[in-house]
Amino acid sequence: MATEATTDDGSDAPDAYDALLDRARRWNTVGSAAGVLGWDQQVMMPEGGTPARSKQLSTLSSIRHDMLTDDETADLLAALEDADLTDEQAAAVREIRREHRRAAAVPVGLVEEISETGSEALQAWEQAKADDDFETFAPYLRKHVELKREYAEHIDPDRDPYEVLFEEYEPCLSIERAEAILTELREALVPMIDAIRESDRDLAVDTFDGAYPTDAQEALARDALEYLGYDFDRGRLDVSSHPFTSGNQFDCRVTTRFDESDPLGAIGSTIHEFGHAQYNLGLPKEHWATPLGEARDLSVHESQSRLWENHVGRSRAFWEQFLPMMTDRFPDAADATVEDAYEAANQVYEDNLIRVEADELTYHLHIVARFEIERDLIRGDLAVEDVPEVWNDKYEQYLGIRPETDAEGCLQDIHWSHGNFGYFPTYSLGSVMAAQLYDAADAAIDDLEGSIADGDFDPLRDWLATNVHAHGSRYETNELVERATGEAFSADAFLAYVDEKYGELYDL
Ligand code: ZN
Repeated sequence: MATEATTDDGSDAPDAYDALLDRARRWNTVGSAAGVLGWDQQVMMPEGGTPARSKQLSTLSSIRHDMLTDDETADLLAALEDADLTDEQAAAVREIRREHRRAAAVPVGLVEEISETGSEALQAWEQAKADDDFETFAPYLRKHVELKREYAEHIDPDRDPYEVLFEEYEPCLSIERAEAILTELREALVPMIDAIRESDRDLAVDTFDGAYPTDAQEALARDALEYLGYDFDRGRLDVSSHPFTSGNQFDCRVTTRFDESDPLGAIGSTIHEFGHAQYNLGLPKEHWATPLGEARDLSVHESQSRLWENHVGRSRAFWEQFLPMMTDRFPDAADATVEDAYEAANQVYEDNLIRVEADELTYHLHIVARFEIERDLIRGDLAVEDVPEVWNDKYEQYLGIRPETDAEGCLQDIHWSHGNFGYFPTYSLGSVMAAQLYDAADAAIDDLEGSIADGDFDPLRDWLATNVHAHGSRYETNELVERATGEAFSADAFLAYVDEKYGELYDL
């Protein structure tokens, strides 16, 4: 309302606030330009472009870092320390202050050393994985652990370094809550997966056996995106070796990948990335490049992708309309029933060793094992040379399987070669949050399942847009979840969901 003295657009804000937001828009614009270059690097760029692209990206990254940490930004934040701000303005300043403090605390030289170690470690990891030789990767992992401990100490020497690193990805969710949720998952899922292994129930796991040509799979991925309501005027679908989503409220693109023997893999990952894209596309346009127009952190982002992938894409209701679309593209699969498709999409791979091939249930034990190992590494309670054995022991304990090689064990993921410690838990936290949000949407929407079965996704998309996307980073994670669901963030909804679903599927 234009006549009111106080508006949300900051027009009556202190000058320092307007100046700070102007600066934030500039450094975030530099960051989003880097995002487009990163997308291009993974999707379009010819291989020869790497040297120039690396320079372009590192230059943009240092320009952004300088603006975020320089004296002018520090002075504006100081001037706003006791300023009279609206709730929205205070939230934007809170987010900028947090990012500024963290970035300013770490010497540039250390950031560069970590980044250089990352490039070398990545090469060493690729080789070690190909040769199944942990020894060649161990020195780089050791160096990353040391550098990241040092990094955490600069930010806060008095706190647990793993907690500080976790906050890089999840700044406003306490490590205690994260750890409590992961422990609950472990305690509930280990016996459930044991029971599934013992179950006599045979699922229709061969429903989609056969060869599925890439062209038709790509056409089906587009069908799926259109069916769910992806806005192709503000996005596009491409292929990359690792599916990802990149962009903002004006232009948010997704990628997927195809395996001719596994059509469900591409469908699942396309729907997953759709959920990520939907979040970014739903952020408020008027707050672009400021915290109020940016997504909350990784767990919330992952909650959006998993909600669509698991609660929609793996539901019976979804397959009602989607199965005929699939058999249109793949006439060989015409005999499959909705129940067959549902069972195939929800099969538990209890003997699978590889995280990225895991099902909705065993997935979390892959994460719990990584979380416990990286936490102990960073806290100094575990030596790098002991990682392979501890890894294998945990797989045996949690999943009842023991990797025979390190390539299939502790060398399988890229994250530690980048020096990313504290990232893994956000995947599981996202799934858990997805279940809680889906329950709340289900309670708020009249016959949500019926609308999904009818192919009407508007009610769910609108609910998520209003209750999650529209807020950007205005609320911290717990408050966002509480406002959306009426309850504190917990594993309750997820555990009830898997209990019911897998209990029925496997006769537990
Ligand atoms: Zn994701």
